[in-house]
Amino acid sequence: MTEKVLLPLGCLKQTADRFVNLTYPLRCPVCDRPVWPRGQGICLFCLKDLKAIGDPVCEKCGKKLMVDTGLCHDCKEKNHIFTRCRSVFEYSSAKEMIYRFKYAGRREYARVFAFLTGKILAEYIFANDFDCIVSVPISRKRLLKRGYNQAEEYGRELSALTGIPFFDDSVRRVKNTAPLKCLNPSQRQKNLKNAFKKGKNVVKSKRILLVDDIYTTGATMDACAGILLESGASCVYGLTLSSGAGV
Ligand SMILES: [Zn+2]
Ligand SMILES: [Zn+2]
Repeated sequence: MTEKVLLPLGCLKQTADRFVNLTYPLRCPVCDRPVWPRGQGICLFCLKDLKAIGDPVCEKCGKKLMVDTGLCHDCKEKNHIFTRCRSVFEYSSAKEMIYRFKYAGRREYARVFAFLTGKILAEYIFANDFDCIVSVPISRKRLLKRGYNQAEEYGRELSALTGIPFFDDSVRRVKNTAPLKCLNPSQRQKNLKNAFKKGKNVVKSKRILLVDDIYTTGATMDACAGILLESGASCVYGLTLSSGAGV
């Protein structure tokens, strides 16, 4: 009788990952060419082109500040619904890779984005004792067209990396809103009102880390945080891959 050789699941996954990597080498989010050296998530020489947001940052929304004034101009003017937000990269250094991540099918970037987020913002992620990660949803129509929700891909990879559970369907997008970049701040807020509703997953009493790809005015983050708080969440913190500079 031959003995069955049982490999641990992690081992099988590593072997499968290596096979996929050799057959279809991962693309680097910065240069979009196969990563060098192979097997990494980002080229060694491309890392320097990404600018991580370092201090000083706005204590509320996490935007980069030129001078440490505590809050940015926007956050002095208005109250956000989320407790705090942090972003990983300056938008100017990340916009092309985020564009490809979102619109050019580069779903594979999510894993290295999560890894870099974990490296850069470990303290923020672990010091706040989150019960779950939730991603900002896109509408069903957009999901069908794009094939995936980039914020969800990012959130799921962050969950796999940190061990914080990912809660899907906690909040839904019901209206297909116009692209936000075309609107001014007050139009955005109006547009986003009623764009979200509660999902099926229970978030009562949970401390939530809400993730998205870009932070602009915080209107999307606020709209989603509002729904989650209405659903009984105890607090909602934000985390985005990039944000522009604050003033
Ligand atoms: Zn590269
Ligand atoms: Zn701010």
